Amino acid sequence: MGLEEKLPSGFLLTTVEQAAGWVRKASVFPATFGLACCAIEMMTSAAGRYDLARFGMEVFRGSPRQADLMIVAGRVSQKMAPVLRQVYDQMPSPKWVISMGVCASSGGMFNNYAIVQGVDHIVPVDIYLPGCPPRPEMLMDSILKLHRKIQGEKLGAHRVAAEQEAEEAAMKA
Ligand code: SF4
Repeated sequence: MGLEEKLPSGFLLTTVEQAAGWVRKASVFPATFGLACCAIEMMTSAAGRYDLARFGMEVFRGSPRQADLMIVAGRVSQKMAPVLRQVYDQMPSPKWVISMGVCASSGGMFNNYAIVQGVDHIVPVDIYLPGCPPRPEMLMDSILKLHRKIQGEKLGAHRVAAEQEAEEAAMKA
């Protein structure tokens, strides 16, 4: 009996997925993208006291093409929304989004015509982080939760999700 017959069905694919998940979660590169007061806490998270680099996030990337994590830190104005979407589209897949703070997640106290009432109207969100502002420890906790999500993702899942999103956008147009 050959090795392939002895192995449980799907063993090799599962192992490759686990290895890819482990590598991806250990090298997440956030885009430099702060919108309001929450961004101050995000920047603090990367400084020496909290040291996000411990989790494989050594540098915030200046170019979206080198980033795979968008931390939406602060309220999103209607004017900023298309820019935010463009930055997201320029990031290579697989990519993830953390909505940091109540303003990014729901508009927060800014329930008015100028502010997008939740960034999930613009980009798909993986983690919603409550607080006004969330403290660096909370951001780090959400990043660790995102790591668990990345570790459990199937290969190709992002491509399928992107295709579905493109189909839905085409139907709305
Ligand atoms: Fe500022 Fe609070 Fe809104 Fe964050 S959640 S952008 S700290 S008002």
